[in-house]
Amino acid sequence: MLYESRKLAQGTSFETTMHIFDGDAPGTVFMIVAGIHGREVGSIRAAQKLVRQLKNGDWTIERGTLIVVPIANRPAFKKRIRGKPDLNRTFPRGPSGRTTHEMSRALYKIMRKYKPAWYLDLHEANGLSSASTDVLGQTLITDSGSPAVPAVRRVIKHMNGRVVRRSHRFHIRMHKLKGSSRTAAADRLKAKAVTVETCWSLDMNIRINYQTEVVRSFLREAGLI
Ligand SMILES: [Zn+2]
Repeated sequence: MLYESRKLAQGTSFETTMHIFDGDAPGTVFMIVAGIHGREVGSIRAAQKLVRQLKNGDWTIERGTLIVVPIANRPAFKKRIRGKPDLNRTFPRGPSGRTTHEMSRALYKIMRKYKPAWYLDLHEANGLSSASTDVLGQTLITDSGSPAVPAVRRVIKHMNGRVVRRSHRFHIRMHKLKGSSRTAAADRLKAKAVTVETCWSLDMNIRINYQTEVVRSFLREAGLI
């Protein structure tokens, strides 16, 4: 496996690191972004852990390319806030829309360059989806009609076979979110794009473990591990 890192939005307050892991065999390009919202710390910690483990050789990418950006909105992460403006409304809308923020521009440029077949956007949210359909905690979100839906259902089945408490079970949600990185990746780049939402009220280690297992499960689906 080859590893390299690069700076995105270099020289700005948003400057952040992108990590690229290349498997020994050719395969799918898979991109993971966390920290588009700065206070969803469990998802950021999970992305950082993933990078650390791959760099340490705890496990490896066998085929294809994995791109990870663990902290997309560094100024918001420093303040532990969602971010103003909300970065997840600044990605291209519709067939001819443009990015409206320097950081979404930097991320979208990478997405266009590498054309990931898979795009995971790691987040955290309020509530438990087992208790209410109005909350997004413990959900995997795709755009309606996404080719990712069968894989999302398999990942949820895998996760729900592992979760300790029934209340922590994951559920699928399907909707378009204009201006989000997921919907831009799905509409413009035809990626299998999924937003991962753990519940931010759970213990940090539990959230990190759920995020990590969801990511690994999708990496298996895509044939990278
Ligand atoms: Zn979020």
